[in-house]
Amino acid sequence: MNLDDVRDLDRFPAYVYDLPGLETHVESIRAALGRTELFYAAKANPDAEILRAVAPHVDGIEVSSGGELAHVRETLPDIRLAFGGPGKSDEELALATGVDRLHVESPRELDRLRGPADVLLRANLPLHAPGAALTMSGPFGMDEDALEECARRITGNPHITLRGVHAHLASGLDAPAMLDLAHRIAEWAIPWLKTHGVDDPELNIGGGMAVDYTSPESRFDWRAYGAGLADIPTRLRIEPGRSMTAYHGWYVTDVLDVKTTRGETYVILRGGTHHLRTPVTKGHDQPFKALTANGPESPATLVGQLCTPKDVFARDVPVPSLRPGDVIAFAMAGAYAWNISHHDFLMHPEPAFHYIR
Ligand SMILES: *Cc1c(COP(=O)(O)O)cnc(C)c1O
Repeated sequence: MNLDDVRDLDRFPAYVYDLPGLETHVESIRAALGRTELFYAAKANPDAEILRAVAPHVDGIEVSSGGELAHVRETLPDIRLAFGGPGKSDEELALATGVDRLHVESPRELDRLRGPADVLLRANLPLHAPGAALTMSGPFGMDEDALEECARRITGNPHITLRGVHAHLASGLDAPAMLDLAHRIAEWAIPWLKTHGVDDPELNIGGGMAVDYTSPESRFDWRAYGAGLADIPTRLRIEPGRSMTAYHGWYVTDVLDVKTTRGETYVILRGGTHHLRTPVTKGHDQPFKALTANGPESPATLVGQLCTPKDVFARDVPVPSLRPGDVIAFAMAGAYAWNISHHDFLMHPEPAFHYIR
């Protein structure tokens, strides 16, 4: 199957993933990064086929729960893993033996860790990131006092090795802003780690590379980012999610009804935001293509089948004249889409899944 054929699928809604396109994209990211290591953040989309497509082009996978850890181990038994996430249970910490790196979030978590473990301490540094879509302060990571406390406790523990610092501080930044943040993290972290006896300090500077849903063709400037990271004199790793898989998934569905109510035109689509929650969580219009209609456009609101006014894919956007049976493909549905959605609300059938190979 290729993307031109999706209008003829026998059942809607459906998710369609372009695996060769994804591989080419991830390969180009890998090539731009030089010696910086690339881990994929599984929480963006842990679909097994996606993981298998990404795996040959990354250095490892970052997981954020025991569930993700077990799933990735089963799907990719030999892949290197980094295990992060706030609020790890004892059961989750026990699973962590054998992961490449464990990201420790608090002194209490460190105390509950039995080891052996190679750890990065997650830092919550007071670095401002103007223009960020989200800043990851609050409960994530530790301030300088708690970091000191952890470093001291590790020094007295033969089962735990301090390898470096993890800092995922913001998301939605472009390459210059990401680089600026990376340099400020490194300026603090490298000397700090050296004072704690870490000879070959590692920095994991997180994910969060910008994805612009208003411009489906544009991409984060990986070449500029990779070139700028080469100036940071230490072992570096990044763990993007959205910017890797967002572009190569589509949610494809058909029109059930079109109506004009009090002057507003609504296109009612099979399925809804219980399958593709992204536009609701991000507060944006999901980019889309009308696959079976063209001609003059007029404004309409694209909604799903849910009994809530929040079930909106795109509000007041230009669309060609649509009729029941016409097919719409929502783009940029490869990350934080199906796996963050509330599937069971209203008990509609689940979408089909197709993989272009
Ligand atoms: C979510 C998350 C990522 C990935 O973020 P993206 O915005 O998908 O690139 C990376 N690291 C950590 C710690 C995260 O929580």
